[in-house]
Amino acid sequence: MALMQISEPGQSPEPHQRKLAVGIDLGTTNSLVATVRSGSAETLPDEQGNTILPSVVRYVADAGVVVGSEARAAIFEDPKNTISSVKRLMGRGISDVKTLGECLPYEFIASETEMPYIRTDNGDKSPVEVSSEILKVLAARARETLGGELSGAVITVPAYFDEAQRQATKDAAKLAGLHVYRLLNEPTAAAVAYGLDKGAEGVHAIYDLGGGTFDISILHLHKGVFEVLSTGGDSALGGDDFDHAIANWILEQAGQACVGNDVARQLMEIARGIKEQLTDNDNVDINIATGCFSWAGDISRDTFNNLVDPLIVKTVRACKRALRDAGLSVDEIDDVVMVGGSTRVPRVREKIAEFFGATPMCDIDPDKVVAVGASIQADMLAGNKPDDEMVLLDVIPLSLGIETMGGLMEKIIQRNTTIPVAKAQEFTTFKDGQTALAVHVIQGERELISDNRSLARFELRGIPPMVAGAARIRVTYQVDADGLLSVSAKELTSDVESSVQVKPSYGLSDNEVTRMLKDSFEFAAGDKDARALAEEQVEADRQLEAIRQALNENGDVLLTAEECSELHALMDKLSLVRRGDDTVAIRKAIDELNTTSEVFASRRMDQSINQALSGQSIDSLGEEK
Ligand code: ADP
Ligand code: MG
Repeated sequence: MALMQISEPGQSPEPHQRKLAVGIDLGTTNSLVATVRSGSAETLPDEQGNTILPSVVRYVADAGVVVGSEARAAIFEDPKNTISSVKRLMGRGISDVKTLGECLPYEFIASETEMPYIRTDNGDKSPVEVSSEILKVLAARARETLGGELSGAVITVPAYFDEAQRQATKDAAKLAGLHVYRLLNEPTAAAVAYGLDKGAEGVHAIYDLGGGTFDISILHLHKGVFEVLSTGGDSALGGDDFDHAIANWILEQAGQACVGNDVARQLMEIARGIKEQLTDNDNVDINIATGCFSWAGDISRDTFNNLVDPLIVKTVRACKRALRDAGLSVDEIDDVVMVGGSTRVPRVREKIAEFFGATPMCDIDPDKVVAVGASIQADMLAGNKPDDEMVLLDVIPLSLGIETMGGLMEKIIQRNTTIPVAKAQEFTTFKDGQTALAVHVIQGERELISDNRSLARFELRGIPPMVAGAARIRVTYQVDADGLLSVSAKELTSDVESSVQVKPSYGLSDNEVTRMLKDSFEFAAGDKDARALAEEQVEADRQLEAIRQALNENGDVLLTAEECSELHALMDKLSLVRRGDDTVAIRKAIDELNTTSEVFASRRMDQSINQALSGQSIDSLGEEK
C-alpha cells in the first residue's frame, strides 16, 4: 500500500488557499482565458489590455513562434507559415484534411499515424502543436496576471466534437503544460455563465455565431446537469461571410468586376472593420485606396441588413432543424443565449428574437461568455467553492455500451458525457420465440467487444415468445453522481424487467484509460473493417436462420425440388464464406441468396394472404403481424 504523505511542520499548505484555475475558450477565430477572482468571473487581458487573442499562429524561420494579432497581420504576406482556424483541423486524419484543405494555403504532410502535419519554415507542425501554442500564450498570460502556477484549466469544445477532436484538444493542453480539469461543451459553458445551471429545470437554445462557424445547441437542464438534446449549425457560416458580403458590395459600388487576391484580402479586412462599426453606428464612411482602385462613399445599417439577411435566414433554418431533432416546438424553449462575436450585429439579435419570440440573453459579452462560463466551472472543480456549492457535473472517462450480435460494441453513453446521466436504447430479439436476452455491459472505445473491457453480464428472462424483431427491449444505462452505473433491461410489451449495478469509473487506472484511447485512435481503421465483417456475419446468420425456418414450414409445398436444392446450395455456400473473413464475399453470397429466395418469399406471402382472406374477416387483418 502506498504510504500517506505528511508535510514538514510549517510547510503545510494553508488550509483555505485558493487554487488558481482558469477557463479557456479555444475558438476558431479568437481565444480567451478567464478566471474567478473575488467571486466574479473576468477575462484576463494581455499587456496592451486586449482580452481577445486571435487564434492565429505564425512560424518564422529560425525565429520561433508568433501568436495573436501580430500573426494575423501576416496572414496575407506569409500565408503558408501563418496558420489560422486550426481548430477545424483538430482530430482529423490526413484524408479529411486533404478535402478540407483544398482551399487552404498550407502544405500538408502525412505522418505514420495518419495525423496531418503542416509544413512551415520552422518545421512540420501538427494541428495539436499549433493549438498548444495558442494555449501556451493564454496560460502564460494567466500565470503572470494571477501571479502563480495554475492548478488546472477547463477548456471548451463545440458540443458536436467527437472523441478524436476532444482528445486532440486535451493533447494540445498537455503539450502546453496545462492540467485539464475537464473539457466543457461551449454551449454548456455559456449557460453556466448565465447561471442557468442554478435555475429551474428548463430547455435552453444556445445560438453561437462566431467568425467562421455557426452552432445551435438545444440543452435540457435537469437536476443540475445539462443534457445536449440536439446540435446543428453550419461549419462554413459566420462573421467572415458578413465581411464577404460587404466587400462584394463595395466592389459593385466601385464598378470593379474582380480584383486580385491581395486586394480582395485587403478588402475583407476593411469590410470587417466596417461591419464592426455598423454595430454601434447607423452609417459608416468608407474610403478605399488600394493598388488597383480607389473609392469613397458610405454604407448604412439598412443596406448592411439587406446584405446579411440571407445569411441570417440560413441560421434560422438550422435552428428549426435543431428544434425538430430535439422534438420541440419553438415555444417550448425557455431561454435563448447569444454567443459569439457576430451576435453583436443588431440585425442578428432582432431576427433571432423574432424567431424564438423572446428577447435573447446578451448581457454578458457574447465573445467572452464561453470563457467566463468555463472559468466558473474551473473554480468549482479546483475546490474553491464551499462544499454545498460543489458541482454535480462530472464526466465518464470511457464510453459505456452493450454487446450486440457479432461481438460488437454499441455505445449507449459516450465518454466525456457529464454525470449523472441516464440513456436508454431499444433492442430486439434475434430469433423467433427467443425468451431470454443476455445483456453484456462493456466499457471502451473500440468497435469489437473483445478489445474493450467487460464490466458485467446479466440476463433478462421471461420475454413472451414472439417472432424475431417483434420484442421491444429497452436497456437503460444510468450513472449516478458518484460514478456508479446501473443497467436495467425491460421488455416493453410485457413489462418483464431485470437489472444490475456495476462500478465503472473506479475500475480503470489513468494509464489504462490513456492506453485504450491511444489504441482506439491507432486501430480505428482496422476496427471499422472488423465491424463491417462482424455485421455481415450477423446478417448472414439472420438470413440463413430465416430461410431455414421458412423452408421447414412450407418449402416442400411451395417450391419445386429443383428450386429447393438451388436454395440449399446457396445456403451452404453462404455458411461456408461466412466462416471466413472476406466481407465482400459474404455480402455477395447474401445478395445471391436473397435474389434466389425472393420467389419463395413472394409465394409465401401470397399463400398467407390467401389463407387470411379465406379464414378471417377483412377487419381483423390489420391486427395480423
Ligand atoms: P470564434 O468563436 O469563431 O472564435 P468569435 O466568437 O470571437 O469567434 O467571433 C468572431 C467574429 O465576431 C468575427 O467575425 C468578428 O468580426 C465578429 N465581431 C466581433 N466584434 C463584432 C462587432 N462589434 N460587431 C459585429 N461583429 C463583430
Ligand atoms: Mg466561439
